[in-house]
Amino acid sequence: MARYTDAVCRQCRRAGEKLFLKGERCYTPRCAVDRRKRPPGDNIPRRRKGSDWALRLREKQKARQIYGVLERQFRKYFELAHSQKGVTGDLLLQELESRLDNVVFRLCFADSRNQARQFVNHGHFTVNGKKVDIPSYIVKPGDIIAWKPKDGSLPKFAEVVLEGGPKRPIPEWLRIDAAKGEGEILAKPEVSALDSGIDARKIVEFYSR
Ligand code: SF4
Repeated sequence: MARYTDAVCRQCRRAGEKLFLKGERCYTPRCAVDRRKRPPGDNIPRRRKGSDWALRLREKQKARQIYGVLERQFRKYFELAHSQKGVTGDLLLQELESRLDNVVFRLCFADSRNQARQFVNHGHFTVNGKKVDIPSYIVKPGDIIAWKPKDGSLPKFAEVVLEGGPKRPIPEWLRIDAAKGEGEILAKPEVSALDSGIDARKIVEFYSR
């Protein structure tokens, strides 16, 4: 499975803003965006505003990087959203939010989406009691996401993650039961309440040009 392997902080520096790809480190003074204001590379001048096309491209890249999706798959999400009834940008964000790795992150079972993706890949989660190791698996209302038990109890590192309860606010479309190590999808993701700062309209304009 293809994935981005370069240093993730370079993506934030290239985007010119924090994309919160590294979990707790993003909230500390060690964040590369706070320490180095210039884009990555030697002698690259400070970022200029750019054309409308460049701004749309940047927004699309930002969304891809935040959700850890490569171009081909991202385009598929767009085409799926475009083929459905409703606001394409909202449907696109809803699809991205419904990915299993994102839901694991939103339930605070992982510090970052990258870590969530790794946990899912390694088979640490079940959906409705069945092991699912595909990060792009799309969850739906009513699904139960849970840590996969090992020898009848939660894996040790899952207990460490769950200790002290969720470390971030849980979105209203999700419910967590930290004692059981599981979460439930209550509704479709509420796009207006998303904190990702993505302007989906620009992404739609980019693909519709
Ligand atoms: Fe981006 Fe987080 Fe790295 Fe800061 S620490 S540059 S927000 S990934």
